Amino acid sequence: MSTKAMTAPTSTKYETRLFINGEFSAASDGGTFPLNSPLTRETVALISEATVMDTNRAVAAAKAASPAWAGLSVHERGAYMNNLASLIAESEKELASLEAISMGRPISGYWDAKAAVKKLQYFATAGWNGQGRTSLNTPGFINLTLRQPFGVVAAIIPWNVPVYVFINKIAPAIAAGNTVVLKSSEKAPLTSAKLAGLIQKAGFPPGVINVLSGHGHISGATLASHMDVRLITFTGSGRTGRLIREAATKSNMKNVVLELGGKSPAVIFDDADLERAAKETFHSIQWNSGQACMANSRVYVHASVAERFLDLFKECAKDVRLGDPLNPEVNHGPQADIAQYDIVKKYFEIGNQDGKLVLGGVPEDTTGYFIQPTIFVETPESARIMRDEVFGPIVNINIFTDEDEVIQMANDTEFGLYSAIYTRDIDRAMRFARASEAGTVAINCTSPTGAFDLPFGGYKASGIAREGIHDSLDNYLETKTVIIRTG
Ligand code: NAD
Repeated sequence: MSTKAMTAPTSTKYETRLFINGEFSAASDGGTFPLNSPLTRETVALISEATVMDTNRAVAAAKAASPAWAGLSVHERGAYMNNLASLIAESEKELASLEAISMGRPISGYWDAKAAVKKLQYFATAGWNGQGRTSLNTPGFINLTLRQPFGVVAAIIPWNVPVYVFINKIAPAIAAGNTVVLKSSEKAPLTSAKLAGLIQKAGFPPGVINVLSGHGHISGATLASHMDVRLITFTGSGRTGRLIREAATKSNMKNVVLELGGKSPAVIFDDADLERAAKETFHSIQWNSGQACMANSRVYVHASVAERFLDLFKECAKDVRLGDPLNPEVNHGPQADIAQYDIVKKYFEIGNQDGKLVLGGVPEDTTGYFIQPTIFVETPESARIMRDEVFGPIVNINIFTDEDEVIQMANDTEFGLYSAIYTRDIDRAMRFARASEAGTVAINCTSPTGAFDLPFGGYKASGIAREGIHDSLDNYLETKTVIIRTG
């Protein structure tokens, strides 16, 4: 494994400031926090830490920009969004490098910018769908509903797929006529600051999109409890989601959209295509070093094929190349930062106590925060590692013999983001789909496979609301009933 840092492209100049009312500025008190490389542990940049005053200023800018932005036509708003889409497409390589530098995401297989462009292009015309309905069902009345923007929307995003989540939040919000204050993650602020520069270049009116960097307990908490923020849209952990929902309720009862964590099961039956199942379930837990909300961290395999499946799964680990995420040959980067690394290492120890390690480990010979793809078997269902979201490349593979038993085990979690089944029996697959307590059920495929035109979101503690091209716009529109007496 080579962990010697490669040099980022010279075109990469880090933007580290706050973007408020169309302009970049340092924090009001000049405060910064260090962003450290997960590969070398060296400080890469000093990032502006938004203060409460900066956050209030961003909300005020968004509020001031709101009436004019809401008053534009769909075409006019869409033109800015298409400009931004083109600029993101041009900046794909730089965005990939910035992510590699800040949170260790390998540039190989970087898809986020392309997905963000598609989302923006879709929402550039989706504003036309912001329509209400009419009713003649009350004699003497023509009644109707209007769909209107909330005003100021706050968006708080995680670090694991930051560019995608940034656009997934702002595109429908601004298409619906809202203005936005977005706070990036302290672990991955560089791409959000870069996107702020592209927003400026795209010509958006000042205040329509404001971008803050900083820690959750300062700017994040201020947004969650702000009286002028009418909706908060959050993607991140369940722990923070609970805090945000509580702050929203205690302040002005702002609406909340929450996309939270998971502990997703994948179930492999004896009639499955085992090669495909092993390859895909391995990829699901290895991709982004296991730092994916929908990673299948629990795999249940039928006893009669368990040995063969485990051999095939282990075989996949031979293609994993740990190293500098800027190296295009590398497909497994370090964990995002020391906090993430320490958490995953702790679960490694917990997993070792309760289950049996059959593959993987924590390499000792590197300064980077690397964890190898790791498999535990024979772990009791009640063990902590079977219940908590680890957010690292650690999978527990357990055995089952009976369909009812495995459905019960798959559902025995507080999370409900994604579940997968591999079988050739369509009746069984559909029984599983119906019984699964999950927002997405995958049949003969697994995460991160999704469907562009279908909703994504969680059952149970994995979230509130759904996101997707046909669903997100609705999240950002209020409904007003207008009753007209016609005589
Ligand atoms: P996190 O909850 O630690 O942080 C997310 C964001 O919340 C960050 O910007 C952080 O600064 C901010 N924050 C922290 N405390 C806050 C507070 N008190 N008030 C307001 N904001 C606060 O999550 P993370 O570690 O960045 O991301 C990983 C988590 O995100 C995992 O649980 C993962 O499953 C989840 N995730 C879910 C989805 C999904 O679509 N369901 C997608 C990606 C990630």
